[in-house]
Amino acid sequence: MKTELLTAAETARAAEIIRNGGLVAIPTETVYGLGANALDAAAVKRIFEVKGRPQDNPLIIHVSSADELDAWCRDIPAAARALAAEFWPGPLTMILKRKSAVPDTVTAGLDTVAVRCPDHPAALETIRLAGVPVAAPSANLSGKPSTTTAQHCIHDLTGKVDAILDGGPCRVGVESTIVDMTVRPPRILRPGGITLEQLERTLGRVRTETSPVKSGETPKAPGMKYRHYSPKAEVTIIKSDIKQKIYDYVNSMPDEGTAVLCFDGESGSFPGKLCAEYGAEGDAFSMAERLFACLRELDREDITRIYARCPSGEGVGRAVCNRLEKASGGRIICL
Ligand code: AMP
Ligand code: MG
Repeated sequence: MKTELLTAAETARAAEIIRNGGLVAIPTETVYGLGANALDAAAVKRIFEVKGRPQDNPLIIHVSSADELDAWCRDIPAAARALAAEFWPGPLTMILKRKSAVPDTVTAGLDTVAVRCPDHPAALETIRLAGVPVAAPSANLSGKPSTTTAQHCIHDLTGKVDAILDGGPCRVGVESTIVDMTVRPPRILRPGGITLEQLERTLGRVRTETSPVKSGETPKAPGMKYRHYSPKAEVTIIKSDIKQKIYDYVNSMPDEGTAVLCFDGESGSFPGKLCAEYGAEGDAFSMAERLFACLRELDREDITRIYARCPSGEGVGRAVCNRLEKASGGRIICL
């Protein structure tokens, strides 16, 4: 299949492809999404095939305004409307009861649907012009780090999708916060660009369980049970209150095959190792923005293990830690 490369101005073409049942990688403020007409079950099925995504992992539908909520959702609580008014367009996905117009392929047969209004002009324009909700998971191969530039999408998806819309690098860099609005108090299923603290200001009490699901248990966000965001190399999170212990430990490993995902200015502490500085210590926003690009950069043929520095788990740091924990499959060394 030939993949068209579109500029951010070519949203009409992107919308046309989506309307005709095609797949388009679309920029959003969080990560790139692999979009299709959410009402076209065959097009949605192709998203799963292209990504190699398990069928039981439902998709988020993207709308261009909160006015569209009533078309796809029912029993919408007032608190959900308040969140939409406060945070949309933006990196917040709400789980709501679904109407039957949303195909089962999108929701993996659940009685609920995930909805978001992205804060990116090219995404909003594409959805508006398509005139349909756009189902879109992250535009990466399933399990791999998400795509935050058009170049990442070209790498992963050329020949597999109809078009890639280049909207530049993503501003937030990690996926949206998912909050389940069908339970009380509302529950965060995935931390992301909108923080717990921000949600609490609008909602009051919010539950935060984001722990992985034990085998046999039914996951509330089905995507939580899969290893995710992972480069080919084995990722290990490395923590200590004493930085020198981290430097000494990593430097005791052979240079060959070892890479380090570190904070700005730390490369010099790992002489001989391949390093990617992904953000300033204490500035989780900068880390979120560069996390996936740096994981991709370090995922070279010759690299077998990546040691990762992790921010403290507050604000957007919670989302960064969550992605690193998933990428590492829970491999954490505390020194
Ligand atoms: P992705 O688009 O790849 O970031 O993945 C979407 C995430 O949303 C996955 O983790 C899904 O499990 C989650 N999700 C989508 N729809 C629902 C739903 N109805 N209920 C709970 N989680 C959902
Ligand atoms: Mg994803």
